[in-house]
Amino acid sequence: MLTADSDRLSVLESVLHAMNVGAIVLDNACRVLVWNSWMVRHAGHAAAAVMGQDFFALFPELQGKRIEGAVRQALRDNFPSVLSQTLHKAPFSLYTSAATRVSGELMQQAVAVTPLSVPGAARLCLIQITDVSVAVARERLLRDQALELRSQTFSDGLTGIANRRHFDVAIEKEVRRAKRSGTPLSLLMIDIDYFKAYNDHYGHQQGDDCLIKVAGALAQMLQRPADLIARYGGEEFAVILPEMDGEQSARMAEAMRQKIVGMQLPHAKSEHGEHVTVSIGVATHRGETGDIAYLVGAADRALYAAKHAGRNRVGLHVVEVAAAQACASQA
Ligand code: GH3
Ligand code: MG
Ligand code: MG
Repeated sequence: MLTADSDRLSVLESVLHAMNVGAIVLDNACRVLVWNSWMVRHAGHAAAAVMGQDFFALFPELQGKRIEGAVRQALRDNFPSVLSQTLHKAPFSLYTSAATRVSGELMQQAVAVTPLSVPGAARLCLIQITDVSVAVARERLLRDQALELRSQTFSDGLTGIANRRHFDVAIEKEVRRAKRSGTPLSLLMIDIDYFKAYNDHYGHQQGDDCLIKVAGALAQMLQRPADLIARYGGEEFAVILPEMDGEQSARMAEAMRQKIVGMQLPHAKSEHGEHVTVSIGVATHRGETGDIAYLVGAADRALYAAKHAGRNRVGLHVVEVAAAQACASQA
């Protein structure tokens, strides 16, 4: 049984040095009074070297920082603070291990500053530092995994462009935006011509390669951040063109058609020539009219018209434009 004050004091001292947190006590003039073993290990200063030293001279990197304010507030106003880890990732030059000291990777820290009232003496200040590197690394890993999952959820595994789910989310957002702002919105439906014959002749693997090339070439043609190309179905792509009217989007569709022709991807079984071609349906609506089903249906009908008229061409369906103008642009 420990009864003497000196015995209890030595127990407290053992606890202080065994603790798995950094403990520093400063006097009213910010001089170091207590510096536990954790601080010796992680800061690289022996207790004898820092005792009685000015704390902010030991850690000049803390001058003018949030922690200096917290210490002064604790000593002057008896006010405790917890420094948010997200805002102050590594206030002290501390290292988790010898290896991280060599690599220069600072310990991630959670810091609490607490005023200490000692009877008959000027107020003191306790600084506690916890190593949260492992928790921060785990958090970062989880965040990266969440981002990766999110991008997988919204991109097509084969071509890397947006998938159908991404398209559904984007078209809904853009239709809403177009209605709100009264701006036009265009949609292109692009379908590779005679692709079943391509697959039958060259095999599925080469069919996949062809899809990747066509998707990549079309994606390259989109310049504005809000434009989106998605794989809508097997060999069918959809392009959302916000704030593009019928004329502009028809021009874009025609440029895309020509781009694919210009790639000269061999297609021995095409009934249209010797190369891979696409047919494109264009639909545009003014913001105040139509909805998603209407826009997609109109682009589909325009695509069907382009196919029916012979393929390798652009079919138009603009709300205000008469149906007679469908299939205006030909190969
Ligand atoms: P059309 O000119 O009328 O568009 O004729 P098509 O043969 O292209 O049209 P259809 O819809 O009959 O055939 C589409 C083919 O696309 C069927 C399928 O073999 C192929 N396809 C769909 N998805 C994939 C895919 O992921 N990879 C490969 N290699 N082929 C696919
Ligand atoms: Mg096809
Ligand atoms: Mg098809």
